[in-house]
Amino acid sequence: AKAKGRNATQFFSAEMNARAYEDLLMSKALRDALERDQFILHYQPCVSLVDNRMTGVEALVRWHHPEQGVIPPSTFIPLAERNGLIGQLGHWVFREACEQTARWRMAGLPPVRVAINVSARQFNRRGLIQEIAKLIADNGLTPRDLHMEITESMMMENPERAQEVLRSVAEMGMDIAVDDFGTGHSSLSYLKDFPIHYLKIDRSFVMGLPEDQGALAIVKAILAMAHNLNLKVIAEGVETAAQRDILAELGCDEAQGYFFSRPRRASELTRLLEANQAL
Ligand code: C2E
Ligand code: CA
Ligand code: CA
Ligand code: CA
Repeated sequence: AKAKGRNATQFFSAEMNARAYEDLLMSKALRDALERDQFILHYQPCVSLVDNRMTGVEALVRWHHPEQGVIPPSTFIPLAERNGLIGQLGHWVFREACEQTARWRMAGLPPVRVAINVSARQFNRRGLIQEIAKLIADNGLTPRDLHMEITESMMMENPERAQEVLRSVAEMGMDIAVDDFGTGHSSLSYLKDFPIHYLKIDRSFVMGLPEDQGALAIVKAILAMAHNLNLKVIAEGVETAAQRDILAELGCDEAQGYFFSRPRRASELTRLLEANQAL
């Protein structure tokens, strides 16, 4: 039994070493990627459910790896959080989004807001607010041009700290959206204590609409509560006309999803904004 235990330990540590080694390789690749500008932002339209017109876009980062092709953020954001590169990456995302927003403004295109995702460790870094304020000023923008998306779990991890940071963001004039709402098992009563403006209903609830009675009940409850708290609601992951229709009927304010548009590169978004048509 003792020998067996040792083998198991060796096996696990070998596996762990392999994973640590892979992490190390990827970390190095990520660091190189930051230096070589291998990241790109795609933008997904968000539309009003009243007239299907674009109200904003969400910036979504991709990594164009020279050998592995396009790597999705679900792979490298968690890695960047573990190895501490999230600060640099997050800064790149904010700067790139600000520069693109400024280009759209200069071109006289409809002033849609640009939503930026902020991850947990990035959110807890000191100096985040000053960093954001500087990027906004450097690009001739105002905080109203941008939205910050944070997740429920980020607010719940350290509620006092989160309140403090979010208050500064809101005082600056930037609207705040709570992302993936409904998945973070937060106590709903907390919401009223945070200076937030939008809830984004997670795709997992939208997916079941309109047939799934459970999903329908949850979406209705979120809408009722949010509207009572004077928050606007954005449904994410809308893929069908039936989903769009039921959400509009229930009074959901805005929506995002493949039904309207996939995330697209900036140049394609420019053409969409120029056309300024309902999606
Ligand atoms: P998220 O913030 O919930 O973003 C929505 C994700 O759903 C995006 O995946 C988007 O491409 C995808 N999506 C949009 N509409 C549909 C739809 O109709 N159907 C389906 N199946 N999917 C849809 P993506 O771009 O792979 O991003 C994944 C996650 O990575 C994001 O989830 C966000 O948490 C994170 N992320 C992306 N960009 C950034 C960033 O710049 N900074 C940080 N911190 N996180 C980011
Ligand atoms: Ca988001
Ligand atoms: Ca989301
Ligand atoms: Ca989501």
